Amino acid sequence: MTPHLVVIGTGYAGLLAALRAARIARGRVAVTLVGASDQLVERVRLHEQAATGRSVAHPVAELIAGTAVRFVHARALEVAPRRLVTDAGVLEFDRAIVCTGGSVDLDLVPGAREHAFAIDGDRVARLFSEARRIAARGGRVAVCGGGLTGVEIATELAEALPGLRVELVSASEIVPGLGGKAREHARAVLKRLGVAVREGVRVTAVAADHLDSEAGPIGFDLCAWAAGFRAMPLLAGLGLPMAADGRVIVDAYLHARPDLLVAGDAAAFASAGGGWLGAGCKTAMPMAAHAADTAVAELTGGAVREFSYGDLGYCVSLGRRDGILQFMDAAGQPRERILKGRVAAWIKEQVCRYTLLALRAEQRQLLAYRWQRRPARPLVAVEAAQ
Ligand SMILES: Cc1cc2nc3c(=O)[nH]c(=O)nc-3n(C[C@H](O)[C@H](O)[C@H](O)COP(=O)(O)OP(=O)(O)OC[C@H]3O[C@@H](n4cnc5c(N)ncnc54)[C@H](O)[C@@H]3O)c2cc1C
Repeated sequence: MTPHLVVIGTGYAGLLAALRAARIARGRVAVTLVGASDQLVERVRLHEQAATGRSVAHPVAELIAGTAVRFVHARALEVAPRRLVTDAGVLEFDRAIVCTGGSVDLDLVPGAREHAFAIDGDRVARLFSEARRIAARGGRVAVCGGGLTGVEIATELAEALPGLRVELVSASEIVPGLGGKAREHARAVLKRLGVAVREGVRVTAVAADHLDSEAGPIGFDLCAWAAGFRAMPLLAGLGLPMAADGRVIVDAYLHARPDLLVAGDAAAFASAGGGWLGAGCKTAMPMAAHAADTAVAELTGGAVREFSYGDLGYCVSLGRRDGILQFMDAAGQPRERILKGRVAAWIKEQVCRYTLLALRAEQRQLLAYRWQRRPARPLVAVEAAQ
C-alpha cells in the first residue's frame, strides 16, 4: 500500500513541506495537507497589511494546483501515534510533519488579549481600519515589543499613516538580536518618522485606553501587540519535550517522535551556537524542506541526514523606503558591517518575494528549494563591495 504522509499547517513551512514531498516522492507516497485555513498568509508582510489594508493571503488551492497534494480544510485536534484527529474526521498516517507555527504572546501580561491587536491572523485587517480611523484625528498608537516585528510595524504605520502618533515601548533595547550599528540606524529612522521610542520600559498590563508600565501609565487610542512568542498548542499534552515558549523539541533529523517530524515555528531545534534556532520564515522553510526530504526517504527506503542551517543574517524593513541587512558570522553573532537605506529595503522586498517564488518553483517542479547549511559562507563578496 502507498505510504501516507500528512502535513499539518498551511503556512510557509506546511506548504513547502507538502509540495516538496509530493515532488520528490513521484507517486510513491500519498501527501495530504491539513489546514485550519485554506489560505497561505504571508506573515512576513503582515505589518504591510496593518498599514495599508492590502491582503497578504493566497488561496492554498492555487498554490497546490497541478500537484499530487490533497488538501483537507480542517483543524487538527490531536496527533495520536499514526492517527490525526481533526474537526472533520480522522486521518491515518505513516509519517506526519507538524507545521502549525506560533504567534505573538497575548498572555504575556494581563489585558493584552482583551485590549490589544496582535500583529497576527484576522485581527490585522481590523488593526488597519482602526489605525486609519484614528490617524484622521491625530490619535495615538502604542506598539508593544521592540523586536523586529515591533520595529517593522511602528515604522510602517508611521510612514503610511502620517497623522498617527506612534509610540514604541520596549522592555529591552530595540532590535536586541542585531548589532550596534543596526540598532543606531533603526533608532534614527524611527526618529525621522516621528515615532516616540521608550526603551527599557516593561509593560505590566494593558487596559482599555492605556498601558501600565514600570515607567507609569502610557495612554493610547489603539494598542498593537508585538511582544513575546508562543507556539500553537496542538502538540501540548502529548508528553513530548517542549521549550519554554511551547515549541516541541526535535532531534537532529527534526523528529519529535518516530512517526512525527516538526518544522517551522512549531519546532525547537538546538542551534550550533547554543539555545534554540530562532523562529522565523528564514528557518521555517529550510526545516520544512528538510523534514519533507526525511519523511519521503524514511517511507521509501532512502538515506536521511541531519538538519543543518547556517544563518546568513537578518533583513528588516523600516517602512517602504528604508531597511537594515545585518550580516551574521559563522557563530551566529552580528557582524560589524550592515547594509541600510533603500538598498536594504529593496533586498528585503526581494527576500519576501522569494518565499512565494520558492513555493511556486516547487509546485511547478522548476527548482528545488535550497538553503545555506552550516557553516555559513562568510559573504566576503558582499562585504567587499560596500
Ligand atoms: C509582521 C511579521 C514580520 C515578519 N518578518 C519576518 C522576516 O522578515 N523574516 C523571517 O524570517 N520571519 C519573519 N516573520 C516570522 C515568520 O512570519 C514566521 O516565522 C513564519 O510565518 C513561520 O512559518 P510557519 O509555516 O512555521 O508558521 P505560520 O506561517 O504561522 O503557519 C502556521 C499554519 O498552521 C496553521 N495551523 C495552526 N494550528 C493549526 C491546527 N491545529 N490545525 C491545522 N492548521 C493549523 C495556521 O492556520 C497556519 O496556516 C515575521 C512575522 C511577522 C508577524
